[in-house]
Amino acid sequence: TKYVYSFSEGTKEMKSLLGGKGANLAEMSIIGLPVPPGFTITTQACTDYYKQNKELWSDLLDEIKSKLAELEQTMGKKLGDATNPLLVSVRSGAVFSMPGMMDTILNLGLNDESVEGIAKAMNNPRLAYDSYRRFIQMFADVAMDVPKYKFEAILERTKEQKGYHYDTELTAEDLKGIVAEFKTVYKLEIGKDFPSDPFEQLLMAVRAVFNSWNNPRAITYRRLNDIPHDLGTAVNVQSMVFGNTGDKSGTGVAFTRNPSTGENKLFGEYLINAQGEDVVAGIRTPQSIDTLKDDMPAVYDEFIRITQLLENHYKDMQDIEFTVEDEKLYILQTRNGKRTSQAAINVAVDMVEEGRISKEEAVLRIEPERVNELLHPKFEDKALKAAHLLAKGLPASPGAAAGKVYFNAEDCVAASSKGEKTLLVRLETSPEDIEGMVAAEGILTARGGMTSHAAVVARGMGKCCVAGCGTLRIDERAGFFKVGDLTVKEGDYISLDGSTGSVYLGAVDRVEPKLSGKFETLMTWVDGMRKLKVRTNADTPKDARIAVDFGAEGIGLCRTEHMFFEAERIPAVREMIIAQSLEARMTALAKLLPMQREDFMGIFRAMGERSVTIRLLDPPLHEFLPREEKDIIELARTMSIPVDDLKARVDDLQEFNPMLGHRGCRLAVTYPEIYAMQAQAIIEGAIAVKKEGIDVKPEIMIPLIGSVKELAYVKSIVTEVADDIIAKSDVKLNYLVGTMIEIPRAAITADEIAKEAQFFSFGTNDLTQMGFGFSRDDANKFLGEYEEKGILEKDPFQVLDQAGIGKLVKMGCELGRSTNPDIHLGICGEHGGEPSSVEFCHRIGLDYVSCSPFRVPVARIAAAHAAL
Ligand code: ADP
Ligand code: MG
Ligand code: MG
Repeated sequence: TKYVYSFSEGTKEMKSLLGGKGANLAEMSIIGLPVPPGFTITTQACTDYYKQNKELWSDLLDEIKSKLAELEQTMGKKLGDATNPLLVSVRSGAVFSMPGMMDTILNLGLNDESVEGIAKAMNNPRLAYDSYRRFIQMFADVAMDVPKYKFEAILERTKEQKGYHYDTELTAEDLKGIVAEFKTVYKLEIGKDFPSDPFEQLLMAVRAVFNSWNNPRAITYRRLNDIPHDLGTAVNVQSMVFGNTGDKSGTGVAFTRNPSTGENKLFGEYLINAQGEDVVAGIRTPQSIDTLKDDMPAVYDEFIRITQLLENHYKDMQDIEFTVEDEKLYILQTRNGKRTSQAAINVAVDMVEEGRISKEEAVLRIEPERVNELLHPKFEDKALKAAHLLAKGLPASPGAAAGKVYFNAEDCVAASSKGEKTLLVRLETSPEDIEGMVAAEGILTARGGMTSHAAVVARGMGKCCVAGCGTLRIDERAGFFKVGDLTVKEGDYISLDGSTGSVYLGAVDRVEPKLSGKFETLMTWVDGMRKLKVRTNADTPKDARIAVDFGAEGIGLCRTEHMFFEAERIPAVREMIIAQSLEARMTALAKLLPMQREDFMGIFRAMGERSVTIRLLDPPLHEFLPREEKDIIELARTMSIPVDDLKARVDDLQEFNPMLGHRGCRLAVTYPEIYAMQAQAIIEGAIAVKKEGIDVKPEIMIPLIGSVKELAYVKSIVTEVADDIIAKSDVKLNYLVGTMIEIPRAAITADEIAKEAQFFSFGTNDLTQMGFGFSRDDANKFLGEYEEKGILEKDPFQVLDQAGIGKLVKMGCELGRSTNPDIHLGICGEHGGEPSSVEFCHRIGLDYVSCSPFRVPVARIAAAHAAL
């Protein structure tokens, strides 16, 4: 096996072997861009390193040596040389970009001799010692785990003593002193001298990069982003160029389009006289890329040419890292840029219109899950005007977030897990903060630019972020920040507007968003590509209308029990439940009938000619009765029945295991009149709306069926009432009767059941519960552990378990169609809006998925992906 490739030996297609960074460095070298030469140690070397108990083996060492010799030859310099030494960077590069997760060491090869070599060769002692101090600090931090602040403190102290404001004011002499102090710190911390042999430095660095693949931050990032843990990272060894030689040098980051909005305009920042991560670290505030035009016009023109070339070459928005050394431009990295979902959509649609990519490609570039972000609320105009503006930072990642302030990741996670809405407020974020950033509604930092860690990561997550809010004086330890005289303490509410960078006091009201024309364009393409229909789960006309706006093609699940909980109705519902005789029950049901009819009419009107699947009453009856003693007494009084009678009835209805108890169609077996009333309300409502000129399509769904006889019996209650009403009316109304398949026995005997059903709707929430035997209400007590121990990959209540529960669904479809070829098939569990489950539904040939209104666009895109 070949483990080490020169940049000239790779291509962009070799990502899985060379990592994203390595493959693109190779590609850029080959197409003639100014990339400092180097080589890549493959991801396979990393995985083999783990197999060999984290030891570098001799064949690999030989290969590294020979590629290094080649590089020295190309550069005409030698590592560690005392007159004109080669310096290299050692850069990690995983297959999927993991910003800030893995570590990089710059200026490797420096020691007390070679530093003088650089000083002479470049005629710049300041550069030499600035590079040396950076190298010691990075090496100690990355390779040896010496905390950064031990070095930062020395740097800060020196600056203070000398009365400097910026690092760039430090002189060669200052830096020399700092290097000496750094080495002392290193020795104190590690117990050994700082390694002076450059090849030993190189091997230690390579191992450090390999080891960083399994640091906790990297593991967390992979877990959150579904990246497999066994891919490994490549290591890139690249000759150094210097952005820190003086005012004619610098380093920066740029996106070929705006990563927040998608606007087709170069977007980026750079710092003069700086190296490596100074831009991202937010130590000095960087300048906008536009001013490079004035600073160094020739470099700017060349940079523009290259950014356009790269975007054309990769046919996607690029995120480019560059360095200028004495007015010579070098490109150090390119990759497809992370972007907000709004930008993703705008860029994809623009690129189709620019003739760069196909519509299919554009649709495939949109991650279904992330579209969700676009649909979420914005601040309400009036509330915003009235709000107290605290401060303004950079609009780093759009969105509107309101929540309680927390000053570190752990507190954020803890508060969020208690259901609080939180905001993470930090001086600046680092990869250690990832879990807190995930938990928070939004992120606010006092330092750092548009490409700071907080900004990049937040955009990647689609999370609201305001960065670089310099007027905040944050005391993270004490748990407060100040703006002017105003103090905001931990737990206080503030609001962030990531599109403007504004920070407001208190929780500002929010409103539903409006979608852009480009979103509409994209969704028309999506709808042309998918086979699966998308319906919604909606119980009210309001939800139904939202869903129709989001593109719902019908209601797949309208739960009727929610209608029973309304304040004016609950007395009649309770009366119905407590009734001791059929007669008394009928009286109560007669009170509910007109209300139910109104409910359905509202929904039919909202849905127009789209199908509406209405599920008959499903929960156990005790859910409608009070539990507390005082509420029972109160209810008995209003119903004028003896308290003891009521208590007896409440006790009567209690069950040990209500989810497996007297619910669903079982209620209709004991109390047929309940479903009869609901059927009457549905059909009468449908007739009334049909008379208004809407061709309604009601579908009556019977829940919790386990056997065909059960369905046949309950169905007869419904059809008798329905047919009778239709016969007596003067309109022609078609309706369907079908059932949910949510009990494993129903899936297994679906061929029998299909003879009595016009449609099946797979209720995968209950099917998962009963298929696994996991209680939906209690399973999260142990499911976390199942995931951690790898017994389950995903929570099966969120992501359909295709191998087991999915198999039941597939079997249900096949058996159902075998006896009833016209049967209509859908899914109405939570899974109907989860992309991988939607894809599964497409594969097994369901007719539709049904999901909550906000997930409808997600499901539409997922369905298009499945069909492509
Ligand atoms: P990350 O993956 O965290 O972005 P990189 O490997 O890209 O880490 O390194 C970070 C930065 O270090 C680069 O953006 C670049 O500015 C600087 N850098 C890396 N290699 C070199 C090099 N050979 N010469 C000069 N600067 C370099
Ligand atoms: Mg890094
Ligand atoms: Mg980089």
